[in-house]
Amino acid sequence: MSHLKTLFRKFVLKFEPFLPPRRLIVVQGDVLPAQMPIRTIVLARDGQEDWCVGMQCPCGCGNTIELLVIDEAQPRWDYSISASGLPSVQPSVWRNNGCRSHFWLKKGRIQWV
Ligand SMILES: [Zn+2]
Repeated sequence: MSHLKTLFRKFVLKFEPFLPPRRLIVVQGDVLPAQMPIRTIVLARDGQEDWCVGMQCPCGCGNTIELLVIDEAQPRWDYSISASGLPSVQPSVWRNNGCRSHFWLKKGRIQWV
């Protein structure tokens, strides 16, 4: 992780409330891109099947969070997209390792628990 990236991430974190809501992009395939965007939420879709929703952890730790949305997954999450294109997931995201962040993603906004 380069120093510049760390600085940029801290900057983004600090100004999160003033930034536009997070958007969702769709990538083809059953895995998330190796290089995840800083704020954008990524949906991995293989053909017609949605596999997972991913994002960089909003705490700034740099880890990628992967939330499985396929029916067979355990645990699994549901995602929805508002009429204006803003993503929500439920239930909340609670990392059980690393930074242990616990938050909701609602209409493109991070709500810390
Ligand atoms: Zn984190």
